[in-house]
Amino acid sequence: MIIQELIDKKRVGKALTDEEIQFFVNGVATDTLKDYEQAAMLMAIAINGMNNRETTTLTLSMMKTGAVVDLSGIKGVKADKHSTGGISDTTTIAAVPILASLGVKMAKMSGRSLGFTGGTVDKLEAFDGYNTEISKEKFIEMVNTVGASMIAQTDTIAVADKKLYAMRDVTSTIESIPLIASSIMSKKLASGADVILLDVKFGKGAFMKTKKDATKLAKCMVAIGKNAGKKMCAMITSMEEPLGKGIGCCMEIRDAVEVLKGTINPLAIVTRKICEQILMLANDITAEEAKAQVNEVISNGKALDKLAEIVEGQGGNKKQVYDVSKLKKAKNGIEVKASKNGKVIAIDGEALGNACRILGGGRLNKGDNILHEVGIDMCVRIGDSVKAGDTLAIINYNDKNVEEVLTKISNAITINNTLFVKKPKLIHKIIK
Ligand code: URA
Repeated sequence: MIIQELIDKKRVGKALTDEEIQFFVNGVATDTLKDYEQAAMLMAIAINGMNNRETTTLTLSMMKTGAVVDLSGIKGVKADKHSTGGISDTTTIAAVPILASLGVKMAKMSGRSLGFTGGTVDKLEAFDGYNTEISKEKFIEMVNTVGASMIAQTDTIAVADKKLYAMRDVTSTIESIPLIASSIMSKKLASGADVILLDVKFGKGAFMKTKKDATKLAKCMVAIGKNAGKKMCAMITSMEEPLGKGIGCCMEIRDAVEVLKGTINPLAIVTRKICEQILMLANDITAEEAKAQVNEVISNGKALDKLAEIVEGQGGNKKQVYDVSKLKKAKNGIEVKASKNGKVIAIDGEALGNACRILGGGRLNKGDNILHEVGIDMCVRIGDSVKAGDTLAIINYNDKNVEEVLTKISNAITINNTLFVKKPKLIHKIIK
């Protein structure tokens, strides 16, 4: 087989055979394909797409280029959740202890911050001492004994995806449904869970900007998972504004703890729905039963205790779970004020995520250290009425770049004299 023939075939919009896809993926994983050959094929796929069979084969071929986690030694149903990324989306840190306290085994591997979006692993490291890189043996032991573990995804998983992702990042081929679906699902399938819930975000603070594209992506990933024998569910949720109040690691941990203490807000609504959907698939129960179970472990404190157990099991300071004021704090705070009366009509999550990066709360360069204590606390949501001088947000910063961030945040929150503003609907669809 020669790669040029395969690129040619995809360039004119023909479907590739399974063998041809495997040849491409293996060539990437073993570094036998040149960068320009990979780039040309990625662009041909991004432009002409792939059918369901091709996308499934691409996913499974990528999965096979790395380790597949064996969770068979763990008793009970193993579940996983994945968010396609957003702003102030801390659902994993709240959902994992809720589900673990209800007996669903959560062997959770997560990523670090990506671009303007936050990453679960960076947030967990806001707990003093929390180790996201425990050994494989300790990971399995935690899932068996505590019921959950949350760690950083290892480099040994879906090796071809890691290489292709880096290539896509610099060749304008990120935004392609078959390429995103295969990238995410190759890693999810390698993580070994029986039940997978995908939270597919759309809006200003997400990679997918429209509901239509998010739905297409979700359907594609659900089909891949089902073909691989997994119980699948996808939620289409809005990222038209930050999901929680905080943007930045310590603030997002605080938000997750609030959910576990019973606060009802948009973050809690999405978290609870994620848990309910996973419980329905894992235990074959009704929506009402799932809702009642989630409510119970939040009300009786078991879910919060479970988070403390996970944090302690991974070397972290569990006192910070029960008292979030013990988390690191930024040196300074400054308020962003409204410049006029009106209603908040739009909040640009991507700009807020980038503002947090400028403060040091996210990475601007690969390998940058993150300041867990800096970030932004939002005081308004879309639809709120404000008066000139009201506080829109609070910037928690140490010493740098606050002027630039103040302007960025002011520009990210649009206020207008509109009479009626529709609050964005949070959960749009559930696809099974
Ligand atoms: N997340 C991934 O893992 N892959 C993509 O392509 C996009 C988001």
